[in-house]
Amino acid sequence: MGAMAATVIDGGAIAAELLISLREDISRSEHGAPGLATVMVGDDYGAAVYERRLSRLAKGLGCHYAPHHLPTDVELAEVLATLGALNADPRVSGILILRPLPPQIPEATLYRRLDPLKDVEAVHPWNAGLVALGEPRFTPSTPAAAFHMLDRYLFDTGRKPSEFYEQSTIVWVGRSNNVGKPGMWLGLERHATVISCDRWCDEYGRMRKFARQADVLIVAAGVPNLIGADDVRDGVIAIDIGINPITDPETGKVRLVGDLDYDGVAGRAEAISPVPGGVGPITDVWLFANTVKAAGLPRWVHELGQPR
Ligand code: NAD
Repeated sequence: MGAMAATVIDGGAIAAELLISLREDISRSEHGAPGLATVMVGDDYGAAVYERRLSRLAKGLGCHYAPHHLPTDVELAEVLATLGALNADPRVSGILILRPLPPQIPEATLYRRLDPLKDVEAVHPWNAGLVALGEPRFTPSTPAAAFHMLDRYLFDTGRKPSEFYEQSTIVWVGRSNNVGKPGMWLGLERHATVISCDRWCDEYGRMRKFARQADVLIVAAGVPNLIGADDVRDGVIAIDIGINPITDPETGKVRLVGDLDYDGVAGRAEAISPVPGGVGPITDVWLFANTVKAAGLPRWVHELGQPR
């Protein structure tokens, strides 16, 4: 097989376009610039990188940004109290709980305590349910960014996304509540054939045979080099969501890589998204777009209250 020259999908350029319309939305909004709060427990490297990116973007957009840090050994009650305060804070229109969380802090307990109208990542059962029903109030930013990137790439290469998805197999690797699972729902909503592979599928040696069936392979596991050239078919469209810090043993410098063996997969793919500069920048803008939407939810929705 001769090496193909994969198209490298430029997430930064797509994000820059989205940013233009987001700025317009903010300038037109009668609610002004929205406010975003993040809650980080502990000091995970990836979460800290994400927080810095959001902080920069908030500054550029003129948005209020409130990063909250809690120590790794914090008690659940304190995290819940922080969420309660953010739910009640009128400057905050969107709340993002950064992960990973330590074992004494169960993710689902926090998600249930979010004000569903500030839950911009759609992790509260009510919002997650709306995504699963195909009627999202907020579309979770990471899988939304992956599909936005795909849609753009398909348009740019002369294909109609809806027709493409209806005839395609999408394989998701990783099924977390905020990335892989809602990503599957978004794929199903597009009438694609969707396959989900998780850690166990890999441990029992079954993942690669599924990955090789993918027309679109979307990887969100947090494992560097998880998928190599032998695990994909020629002409795959490969989207890499993973963000993994790698320390150079000689210089001690940290750089970020995705979950794909980039060179190996790029040698066979039709298109590939890089890390950094792929899904990440689109995700960030999407999150703020959801926050603008949250700020603009009509007052009567707030007053009505929501089932918890
Ligand atoms: P997570 O740790 O919650 O979930 C990872 C998933 O991958 C789990 O379902 C796990 O079982 C699965 N997995 C682990 N090892 C596997 C293996 N060997 N084979 C198959 N599946 C395996 O993480 P997450 O929040 O879903 O994030 C996944 C990755 O995406 C991380 O690297 C994270 O930093 C990155 N991320 C990127 C963005 C972005 O905007 N680009 C946003 C969120 C997360």
